[in-house]
Amino acid sequence: MTAVRKSSLVQVAEFVAGKGEGGKFGKLELFGAVPEVSQADRRMRDLRQMGWQIDNYKVNPSLRPDEYLVRKLGTRVDLGEPRPKNTRKSITGPKRRRILERDGHTCQVCGVRAGQEFPDAPGRTAVMTIGHLVPVNRGGQNTDANLRAECQRCGDESRDVTVDPPSYEQVLAHVSQGSLKDKRLLYSWMQAGRRMPSDSEKLFLEWSRLSPADRLNVAAVLESQVVKEL
Ligand SMILES: [Zn+2]
Repeated sequence: MTAVRKSSLVQVAEFVAGKGEGGKFGKLELFGAVPEVSQADRRMRDLRQMGWQIDNYKVNPSLRPDEYLVRKLGTRVDLGEPRPKNTRKSITGPKRRRILERDGHTCQVCGVRAGQEFPDAPGRTAVMTIGHLVPVNRGGQNTDANLRAECQRCGDESRDVTVDPPSYEQVLAHVSQGSLKDKRLLYSWMQAGRRMPSDSEKLFLEWSRLSPADRLNVAAVLESQVVKEL
């Protein structure tokens, strides 16, 4: 009675391939087609690692935030093509520990610390992963300079964003738009070769580790100072 169970990767590949190159689909439609919804984002990422080009609104402003555009089908795992090796080789052992230690067990994208709850998702704690600044499928290497600590959320998102790298002109335009204070901070990160938390971010992390009562007290003191300033 039991049907042959397809892996979630094959299910997502089948769904995307069914749309065809040039086809669009919505996130809800994808979730509806894949029984294990929690796996959908991860499997989309796996497909991208195997040469599937699937645009989202971050790389293609003509799309809505919940919309995807199939640009190119990659390795047809849905037709039984073997999955390429080493597409998701994780960084382990001494190298992993060295990177985490260097980055202070802190996500280099959003600043959350390992084991800390996400400020916008109480009850969900951050797990550090090792991410690539330049993704492996774009020639990025497993060198220390190309690796950084990322929480599980930012790891997924930054891989989405790096489907297509930004252009030189885009980056130059955005860099020139910031305030002098922003530019100074950005320049210090460029000099260091990695993102470092600002003084305010460090303070926020310290504050968030206080007891709830102490957090309220410190916030009240700050409130009185901020209100006085206004
Ligand atoms: Zn993060």
